[in-house]
Amino acid sequence: MLSFENTEIAFRYKTNADLSRARMLFTAIANPGLVKMGKSLTYFALKMHLPVAWAIKPTLYKHFVGGETLGECEETVRLLRKFKVHSILDYSVEGGKDQITMQRTLDETLRSVVHAAKHPDIPFAVFKPTAFASQQVLTMASENNIPDEETTKAIQFFRDSVEKLCKTAFENDIPIMIDAEDSWYQPFVDQVVTGMMEKYNKQKAIVYNTLQMYRTDRLDFLKDALRKAEEGNYYLGMKFVRGAYMEKERKRAAERGYPSPIQPDKESTDWNYDAGIAFSVDHLDRISVFNGSHNEKSNRLLTEQMERLGIPRNENRIWFSQLYGMSDHISFNLADEGYNVTKYIPYGPVRNILPYLIRRAEENTSIAGQTGRELALLEQERLRRKSKQK
Ligand SMILES: Cc1cc2nc3c(=O)[nH]c(=O)nc-3n(C[C@H](O)[C@H](O)[C@H](O)COP(=O)(O)OP(=O)(O)OC[C@H]3O[C@@H](n4cnc5c(N)ncnc54)[C@H](O)[C@@H]3O)c2cc1C
Repeated sequence: MLSFENTEIAFRYKTNADLSRARMLFTAIANPGLVKMGKSLTYFALKMHLPVAWAIKPTLYKHFVGGETLGECEETVRLLRKFKVHSILDYSVEGGKDQITMQRTLDETLRSVVHAAKHPDIPFAVFKPTAFASQQVLTMASENNIPDEETTKAIQFFRDSVEKLCKTAFENDIPIMIDAEDSWYQPFVDQVVTGMMEKYNKQKAIVYNTLQMYRTDRLDFLKDALRKAEEGNYYLGMKFVRGAYMEKERKRAAERGYPSPIQPDKESTDWNYDAGIAFSVDHLDRISVFNGSHNEKSNRLLTEQMERLGIPRNENRIWFSQLYGMSDHISFNLADEGYNVTKYIPYGPVRNILPYLIRRAEENTSIAGQTGRELALLEQERLRRKSKQK
């Protein structure tokens, strides 16, 4: 059976100094009080236009981010590839606000698509819907409530941006993934992304949508998407994740008095996630699968299903992925066993990437088990290296 226990393989790309820094970092972010205080201080500093880079860059940023530019990420991309792990470079500027920022983000994301296509170690490009429209605009489009000309223009900018990115991906033969964010504006994102699949996935999956399996409706959505793809004769690309915005989703549903779109408990999310992946692998002739998870059981189940069905480990329609800076024991052990593995590496200026970093810190605080697991593995590797020196 596949083991994720081998810390020598998991951390062989890390120096002793990298290991110590990672241990210190996870110890700090395991402390909810410290994370809460750090978050308030960071937002205060940003609001007052005080410098924050000096504190963030050598710590959180260095651990979770590839660099400020595509070029700066190259060292990390090469290092990971030495150990058979690929990279996805994600220009992580969040929350489309003003037109200039959105246009700049579009230009940079287009560059990242072409860069990925030329780079042998970068198998996908990626972007976030809210990089090209505000949440309000996407929500209005999802509710079919378009009050004025300005909103119409903003919706058109979003459609044009997604079209440009998918067309560039298609012309350069590089798959592109669209992240998922909040459920209340996902209907419009799904509509646009499905349109892109119909257009660009005629021969294979180039455009990938994201399914957040903590949502109660996503398994039905997947089955329906397959039916439409069969009828329309195109391929589906599906990135599976559990979902990162659970608290926010439940809070909004409670405040507005509609049923929560989220599974009632962790077990139901886990079951739904594994069911979605299993269903897709059973329909691999039509669905390409991207498994974005740090869950050991889900990763293992996928390898077992592949084995059972006689699917080669390096099958190009199945990829495993973890975020850079997290769950190296899964990524590097899978890659060592011959599976397709890629790390999701955000890049961008320190200030712009702060929301991402704060989410990572909070996520690792709230998932106490996961942080504990990271710390235990780092400690195990430290002790292993120490005993070898004797
Ligand atoms: C490569 C990659 C890409 C990603 N892209 C996206 C993206 O586009 N959009 C996005 O939203 N997230 C994205 N994520 C984050 C992802 O959604 C999860 O938040 C994160 O990976 C933790 O889930 P897990 O599968 O790794 O494992 P686990 O640690 O086993 O699961 C934790 C997750 O389970 C769910 N959960 C926890 N408690 C409960 C509960 N009480 N009831 C119901 N459900 C519960 C939540 O979704 C929680 O995040 C991405 C993650 C990766 C690795």
